[in-house]
Amino acid sequence: MSLVEKRNIPISLPVTGLEEWEATKEPLMSGWITSGPKVREFEQLFAERHQVKHALAVTSATTALHLALVALEVGPGDEVIVPAFTWVSTANVVLYCGAKVVFADIDPFTFNIDPKDLAKRISSKTKAIIPVHLFGLCADMDEIKRIAGNIPLVEDGACAAGAAYKGTPAGALGTIGCFSFHPRKSVTTGEGGMLTTNDDHLAELMGMLRNHGASISEEQRHHGPKPYILPDFNLLGYNYRMTDLQGAVGVVQIKKLDQFIQERSKWAAYYSDQLKDLDWLRTPSFGSDYHHGWQSYVTFVDESKAPASRNQIMELLQERGISTRPGTHAVHMLNFYKEKYQIQPSDFPGAQAANDFSMAIPLHNRMSEEDFNYVVQVLKEL
Ligand SMILES: *Cc1c(COP(=O)(O)O)cnc(C)c1O
Repeated sequence: MSLVEKRNIPISLPVTGLEEWEATKEPLMSGWITSGPKVREFEQLFAERHQVKHALAVTSATTALHLALVALEVGPGDEVIVPAFTWVSTANVVLYCGAKVVFADIDPFTFNIDPKDLAKRISSKTKAIIPVHLFGLCADMDEIKRIAGNIPLVEDGACAAGAAYKGTPAGALGTIGCFSFHPRKSVTTGEGGMLTTNDDHLAELMGMLRNHGASISEEQRHHGPKPYILPDFNLLGYNYRMTDLQGAVGVVQIKKLDQFIQERSKWAAYYSDQLKDLDWLRTPSFGSDYHHGWQSYVTFVDESKAPASRNQIMELLQERGISTRPGTHAVHMLNFYKEKYQIQPSDFPGAQAANDFSMAIPLHNRMSEEDFNYVVQVLKEL
């Protein structure tokens, strides 16, 4: 059928175009290209939208997570708890600090950290916990806070721009929040990230850490009245500054965030309704406490009832022009971590199941009504 031949629905596609392109003209023409007024404007808009006092732009969610741990003084001898099913960098940043990654299992229904398992992993060495709001669904933060007590919580909200839990936006739920603007995420600046916090001291510290440890910003240095001033460097810092080119794109994108989420929510609800009778495909479910950010729509294939294995189903869909992906990977099953900590896949059964049976189907803001109908039709006919 020609319909099948023509279709090619990618798993994800960013919405960028003329407006974003136009926005980069100003920094390019002015010559102020690194962190400056556009980054500041983006930070302000991001902080307002996520109801936090401070937002600090950086180069990625990975560098945001790294700085968050540095600011919390995570170092050798410390442990940081991370869900076993997440993007690899949630764990890598712990090693960047010389600390030990302690995995906690996830709930394969929400794909988020299982608070009961988290409770078992806490020790006297636990210096921080990184709950991940995977695919745009916030972790159960009240329960996690109750278990964590005074241990700082670093939200990995890489997928969760615009999401909320009990009315509070992601990024305002923990000690520090981290976001990503990679093209696979809800809004993009190419690469990019954001730190959020309500803590003035941490904000000041992270502001210096992202800029080589300098006590004053590039803008203050070059636009201030005292040309002889050089910053003090009292800390070991990094260069994790976002450019104003990216900031300009971010200003345009953040204003579209709620519209993007609204559209994706509508189509996610359509999927869930249309697919509810497929007994082999579990669609996302969550309570009314959660405002989902719908970075992606991740299902779970029950192979005991499915017409084929998860991988075969993914191949069949690809042949019909529908891209799918595993939700993400189980980090404890990746060679590096498996060997480093001598872990078995079955040590974290929830993460293992999610690794083997999760399947993201296309959900993005460039899909048409026909695309969504087509995905549903093909899934039903398998
Ligand atoms: C994408 C992602 C990251 C990494 O984000 P980058 O901006 O690419 O560094 C980290 N954690 C999670 C959960 C992610 O989905």
